[in-house]
Amino acid sequence: MIEVKNIKKTYIGKDGKESRGLVDVSFKLSDKGFVFVLGKSGSGKSTLLNIIGGLDKATSGEVISDFSEKDFDYYKSHYCGFIFQDYKLLNELNVYENILLSLEIKNDMKDADNRIKEILNKVGLDGYENKMINELSGGEKQRVAIARCLIKNPKIILCDEPTGNLDKKTSKQILDALKEVSKNCLVFMVSHDNKACDLYASRRLTINDGLIIDDSIKNESFENKMTLKNNTIYLPSDNTLNDDDLKKLKFIIKINGENASFKT
Ligand code: ADP
Ligand code: MG
Repeated sequence: MIEVKNIKKTYIGKDGKESRGLVDVSFKLSDKGFVFVLGKSGSGKSTLLNIIGGLDKATSGEVISDFSEKDFDYYKSHYCGFIFQDYKLLNELNVYENILLSLEIKNDMKDADNRIKEILNKVGLDGYENKMINELSGGEKQRVAIARCLIKNPKIILCDEPTGNLDKKTSKQILDALKEVSKNCLVFMVSHDNKACDLYASRRLTINDGLIIDDSIKNESFENKMTLKNNTIYLPSDNTLNDDDLKKLKFIIKINGENASFKT
């Protein structure tokens, strides 16, 4: 479990002027689930993510985890995984080498070949080992970044707008993959995509001007597929109805006529 306690962050510019990063932020994170942090640009989302992941230091307050200050590097390299909007892959290395780096940093090279093969299969990139990064599409790059992150089995995955550079269809693939991962570890994602949050989040934190202004937990984890609940048909966010769904839908419309209700 991680507790963020009274975190404040003030940036001092070159001109000596102070600017607000975070005002006073506190919350606890559980071990699993898909937490979205929503807020407009400049609200402090990346600042918060970087402080939780140990990439930046708070001006005051603390991030309490199972690790002491002296294990901080361990916390950052073993406990946390990172996924960024711009992927942060090394272009001079191939896919295999990019993922291997993650194991090298952890000093965990046992059976590396097989594990890399397995993880590439998991993210749908079978046989991509020898491809160079600049040969990949944005979605493929992000999947390599996810593989690089997952192979070290992090307890928390910190994602900074991971679908910010991707089209809708590719974004859905990435979000589906992260949703799956969030069954076993905590995915903490900052985003300004309200719709993705509605579809995928198990908890939503809203940040505005460096303050958390709302913290909501969703009871039922949303599955992005057609479901029937309380006489309501919930449709997936895009056209992913399969033949079975369509059959069901036609049947429901046939027996309910105009009284059938739809929600996307
Ligand atoms: P978001 O990710 O929500 O767009 P950020 O956390 O990047 O917001 O930024 C929050 C505020 O902190 C903004 O006003 C931004 O200008 C400021 N800020 C962020 N990083 C720095 C920095 N390195 N130096 C000075 N100000 C910064
Ligand atoms: Mg940001």
